[in-house]
Amino acid sequence: MRPGDQPQGLPEFRWRQAPKGLATRRQLRAMGLRPGGQEPVAAIVCRRGKRRAWLYQIDRAKPKLPMTLAKEQALDRAMEARQRCPRCKRRYFHCLPLKTLGCCLECHDGTPADPGSYLPPADDQPLAA
Ligand SMILES: [Zn+2]
Repeated sequence: MRPGDQPQGLPEFRWRQAPKGLATRRQLRAMGLRPGGQEPVAAIVCRRGKRRAWLYQIDRAKPKLPMTLAKEQALDRAMEARQRCPRCKRRYFHCLPLKTLGCCLECHDGTPADPGSYLPPADDQPLAA
């Protein structure tokens, strides 16, 4: 089944009658879990069948992205804005004088940058921190 397909033929339960061991995405999140790529195994029907919530197996759920890693990624994105030269697209390991020069020294006046002080331009940068 491709993502986005509506699961067909799944057992349906009324709200609060779902078997133990199954949880909605929202309930999983409250437990610190995420579906983790598994397909729903059943559905909860509410509002006379107008709305459905998919049920996932709790024992196949995976832990949410750890908070520390999520924070690290957010921090890294914030740092990247101060470390990447908009002209040559290189990302340096130090902050650039973007407020005054708007680019790195090499782009500004030709001062060659130490090749060890930046990452080559690429779309997928690893975490520098
Ligand atoms: Zn530059």
